[in-house]
Amino acid sequence: MNQLILHSKREKSIVNRHHWIFSGAIKSCKAQNGEIVSVHKSSGELLGYGFFDPNSQIACRMFEWSRTPLEIESDYWKRKFQKAINLRTALFNHEDTNCYRLLHSEGDFLPGLIIDRYANILVLQPKILGIEKLLPLFGEILNELGFQHLYIKSKSSSIFLEQLTLSNGWLTEETNVETEVKENGLTFLINVETGQKTGFFIDQRSNRQDVRLRSINKTVLNAFSYTGGFSLYALAGGAKQVDSVDISSNAIDMANDLMSLNKLQEKHRGIAADCFDFLNEMPSNYYDMIILDPPAFAKHKRALKNASQGYKQINLKAFKKIKQGGLLYTFSCSKAIDKELFQRIVFSAAVEAHREVRIIDQLHQPEDHPVNIFHPETEYLKGLLLYVS
Ligand code: SAH
Repeated sequence: MNQLILHSKREKSIVNRHHWIFSGAIKSCKAQNGEIVSVHKSSGELLGYGFFDPNSQIACRMFEWSRTPLEIESDYWKRKFQKAINLRTALFNHEDTNCYRLLHSEGDFLPGLIIDRYANILVLQPKILGIEKLLPLFGEILNELGFQHLYIKSKSSSIFLEQLTLSNGWLTEETNVETEVKENGLTFLINVETGQKTGFFIDQRSNRQDVRLRSINKTVLNAFSYTGGFSLYALAGGAKQVDSVDISSNAIDMANDLMSLNKLQEKHRGIAADCFDFLNEMPSNYYDMIILDPPAFAKHKRALKNASQGYKQINLKAFKKIKQGGLLYTFSCSKAIDKELFQRIVFSAAVEAHREVRIIDQLHQPEDHPVNIFHPETEYLKGLLLYVS
C-alpha cells in the first residue's frame, strides 16, 4: 500500500479526526487516483487510512484512524455497514418509516458515499473513484446483510460506473424503479431513477412531522414544494387548504397524484410557477402558514452573495404577506451558509418587513443524517420556525 506523508504543520486537523486532507497538507504521496493509502505524520507515525484523489482539492478522504496497521478487507467494510444499519434499526419502527438515509458519508465515517433506503431498494451515491472501485464488493456485502436491490445513482458520468452496473444503474438484482414507501405512517410514491437527489428529500422528515403537528385548520403555502412532501403532512394534520408551488411541472403533477392517492386532492392546489414571482403576486393576509424550502442557492462560497440575496428576498416576501399570528418555516440546505449566517439573513428580512418576529424553534436535519462531531461539514440543513405578528 502506498503511503501519504503529511506536512508537520498541517497534521493537527487529521489527528483530530477531520476526514479531509487538502492537497497543500501533503508532503509526499505516489499513489494513483482511487487508491487506498496509509496516512502518516511527517515523523512516519501511522495515523490511519484514506482514499487518495489527486484531482480534487480534497486530495485524500480518511475513513479510518488507527495507530497500528489494519487489514482493510471485506470484513472491515462489513463491520462499518453493520454499524450504520444498527443506528437506523435503533431509530426507526419499520412499519411506520421504511425510507431513510442508511449511510451519511462522513456522518457514518465513510466519506464519498451516501446510501438511501426506499423500502427494499437501496440507492448508492458514490462521489469518489475510491468508492466506485469498491462497489462490487459493497454490493456483495449489502446482499449478505439482506439488501437485494441496489441502484447506483451518480452525479458524474463515469465510464467505470457504466461498466459496473447491470443495466440502467442496477448493481445487483433489478426491480421496479418506482416503489411505495412509508414515512411516519404516510405513503409516498418514489421513483429512484427520475426523482431528484436519490429519489426524495428524506432529510426533511422530522420537519415535515413538525408541520403536521401545527397545521390544523390552517391555509398553507408550501413554496419550493417538489412532489408535495410538506403538503401531504399538512393535510394529514388537518390543514384547511394547501397550495404547493414548484417551478417543475413534473414535480407538481406528482404532488397532485400524491394527494389523490391519499384522497386529499379536494383541499390541494398544485401550481407550477417560479416561487419568486408567486411570492410577489400572492395576496397578503391569506396564508396562516408558509413553508420555504428552496434548493441550495449557494453551492460554493463564491456564490454566497447572490445566495444570501435570494434567501433574503423570499423571506422578506413571506414576512410581508403572511397573516397576523402566522407560522413561517424557513430552510437552507446550502453547505456554504451556516446557522449563524442564515439567521442573520432572515433577521435582515424581518427588519425590512417591519414585522414582529419570534423564533419558536431551530430546525435541522433528522436523526438518520448524523453530524460527525469531528467533521462539522456533515451538518448542512438548517431551518427556523418563526411566529410572525
Ligand atoms: N420541500 C421539498 C424539497 C424541495 S427541493 C420536499 O420536502 O420534498 C427544492 C425544489 O425547488 C425543487 O423541487 C426545485 O424544482 C424547486 N425550485 C427551484 N427553483 C425554483 C423556483 N425559482 N421557483 C419554484 N421552485 C423552484
